[in-house]
Amino acid sequence: MNNKDHKNAPESLMMSYGYKPELSEGAIKPPIFQTSTFVFKTAEEGKAFFEVAYGLRNKGEDEEQGLIYSRINNPNLEILENRLCLWDQSDDCAVFESGMSAISTVLMEFLKPGDLLVYSSPVYGGTDHFINHLLPRIGVESVGIRADHTKEDIIEMIEETGKADKLAMIYLETPANPTNAVMDISMCREIGDKYKTEDKEVVLAVDNTYMGPIWCHPMEHGADLVMYSATKYIGGHSDLIAGAVLGKQEHMNRVKVLRTFLGNMASPNTCWLLTRSLETLKLRMDQQMQNAKAVANTFKDHELIHKVHYLDLLEEGTRSYDIYKRQYSSPGAMISIEVKGGEKEAFKFLNELKLFKLAVSLGGTESLAQHPCSMTHAGVDPVAKIQMGITDNLVRLSIGIENADDLIHDISQALIAVSKMNEMAV
Ligand SMILES: *Cc1c(COP(=O)(O)O)cnc(C)c1O
Repeated sequence: MNNKDHKNAPESLMMSYGYKPELSEGAIKPPIFQTSTFVFKTAEEGKAFFEVAYGLRNKGEDEEQGLIYSRINNPNLEILENRLCLWDQSDDCAVFESGMSAISTVLMEFLKPGDLLVYSSPVYGGTDHFINHLLPRIGVESVGIRADHTKEDIIEMIEETGKADKLAMIYLETPANPTNAVMDISMCREIGDKYKTEDKEVVLAVDNTYMGPIWCHPMEHGADLVMYSATKYIGGHSDLIAGAVLGKQEHMNRVKVLRTFLGNMASPNTCWLLTRSLETLKLRMDQQMQNAKAVANTFKDHELIHKVHYLDLLEEGTRSYDIYKRQYSSPGAMISIEVKGGEKEAFKFLNELKLFKLAVSLGGTESLAQHPCSMTHAGVDPVAKIQMGITDNLVRLSIGIENADDLIHDISQALIAVSKMNEMAV
């Protein structure tokens, strides 16, 4: 085998890529560069760094962007961004102080007054709020589409707005939180291309928090931009808030310039924690998925459970199953279950869990359970909520890295408590 042709997998590069120990006293791990500003060798150098950072000229062929000021760049930020690029094979990455700041920066950069936005529904509550309450203030109209809409349905909905020529962005979150409904990324690429013109692109942006960066690479399916709440799987330890955007260079240049002026980049300390998290990202996510599979399969026919929503339980031959197989390399580690009964039964179940913690958020090493109808999606319109399948008996589980048998035991004993409560009521 030719050594030169060998390409290391991302998980092999997470411990070293983009960091030169000789620049930091030989330290095996990058120190935290807790500094606001960087000393220029000469005034000419400072001028050259700013020219590139502010887009006054393109970077020369072998030129590297020099360090200026920690709102613009910082070694911890750059090492992290370079490593994140490896998973999605993107040109560039920008890390933010939260998932919401990553998402809102993308929406603000690529939408302007008069534009039309198409977005998948349900989306994360914060995203929903930004789209439905903040974007209208700057004159951006939006249309929500669901997983059960066909390509023809969506085109009809776009035409009905009378603003089809103003379509500027399609924004997807898939699988949907909390129902695990899957959206077809490549179909949305085709819809976007139908409405692009010579002087107007239609940007396809995908929130890949649930599946990435390991199990889905949206750019392979036609996405222009990929967004993450790095608070979730990427951080993975429920001890930080962060976000990331990845994509092609021309789009990322715009994202990074807006980030510079909004000042919503992640701090050196947060970046350092995320760099540490990346070393175990694949290990953690794979274990979480194995555990989720075991949990979903154990409870799929349980007498106290109406339905388990998990990608591996999708029926072969359905449209959702086809999208799942085409788009994802794993069923993921998020499960939603419908407990038989209503809010009372769902709450009893949640209150009886011991190993699972009752908390929102997801993707961390510890398993979490929550009630979307009254918690993460409490603000969603009640009628729309039912259409999306966010019922009062739905419980969302984020599966962690604990022993699978212990997780199964915990769910079993909580279900027994629910049945005892019901027996007593009879
Ligand atoms: C949590 C989450 C967000 C928001 O991220 P923050 O880091 O909390 O700002 C966005 N999208 C999805 C799918 C999420 O789960």
